Amino acid sequence: MKSTEKNIKRIARERVEILLKLANEKLKTNPELSKRYIQIAREICMRTNIRLGKYKRIFCKKCNTILVPGYTSVVRIERRKKIVKIICKSCGEKYRYPTNKPQ
Ligand SMILES: [Zn+2]
Repeated sequence: MKSTEKNIKRIARERVEILLKLANEKLKTNPELSKRYIQIAREICMRTNIRLGKYKRIFCKKCNTILVPGYTSVVRIERRKKIVKIICKSCGEKYRYPTNKPQ
């Protein structure tokens, strides 16, 4: 039972990585398809209860657009406050992350 669960998670993780890769590739040529790939990847994560981990900040949680600095997002670093601000150009959602913690 436990090993089956492990296998499901392993396969799910592989699929999520493939979907994220495809979403990256399609970002410029087909942004709608790219968003769809992100949506599917997030659905897989939710269903199988796996964490996106290092990938969780590469897309906009609101509209599923991959956040590429200067292309789909604006990045501002506030050194004094040690904060990184990321704004999604697609939907305007704003994110703030501390700079002292990478990822
Ligand atoms: Zn967005």
